[in-house]
Amino acid sequence: MHAVGFLITATMLTSRVALIQSTTRYRAEAHQDALTGLANRRQFELDLPFTQPGDALLLIDLDHFKRVNDEYGHPVGDAVLRAVGQALTAELRGRDRAYRYGGEEFAVILRRVPPAEVDRVARRMARTVAELPPVQAAGVQGPPVTVSVGGATFGLWSRTRTLWDADEALYTVKGAGRNGVRIAGQSAAPSTGAARGSGDRPAGPREQELQR
Ligand code: GH3
Ligand code: MG
Ligand code: MG
Repeated sequence: MHAVGFLITATMLTSRVALIQSTTRYRAEAHQDALTGLANRRQFELDLPFTQPGDALLLIDLDHFKRVNDEYGHPVGDAVLRAVGQALTAELRGRDRAYRYGGEEFAVILRRVPPAEVDRVARRMARTVAELPPVQAAGVQGPPVTVSVGGATFGLWSRTRTLWDADEALYTVKGAGRNGVRIAGQSAAPSTGAARGSGDRPAGPREQELQR
């Protein structure tokens, strides 16, 4: 009788532990991007409210990525995304975190970074991506890739404004020909076009998305 009771208790405990383990795993996976293993957009939305003045945001978008898929195939595109995710992760320090923000767009939150350092970190990340060895997938060798990076610092203003400013900086780089870095409020390098404030301009499509 004792042995039966022990067996029942042990079985119940084992299944309870298994349930807790799988719940924990599902919870973690819900905040993780399956392709790259990076934190996903949902995790970004959770982390954003905890950013502080003195932190910074980088939005990093692969240049002409559609062409990579079209010319080399989707498996190569996927391999490039994984390689870029790993490269960005390798550049992080301390509490910094990289996210897969959207399809071929990444975000990085830099904690306690001096404003002058933001541009340097962003350029280092862009260079690391540009210097990645070609990926191999499905027997096809991928091309070199570049990124455009828009950044902004967090301050006493709204975090949404920081997001908009980084987004606008990113689109300034795209408009100036891609493969560049621009940090909002900092003088732009010659290749990345002129600075534009976030002032009273109308909301762009992504801002409208955020406002919804
Ligand atoms: P731009 O320089 O202006 O950013 O051009 P782009 O081609 O990078 O941007 P566009 O938005 O036109 O295309 C993004 C492409 O990213 C299209 C889409 O198929 C690809 N993409 C998004 N997510 C994935 C993914 O998970 N895997 C692969 N292989 N491709 C993806
Ligand atoms: Mg792109
Ligand atoms: Mg994009």
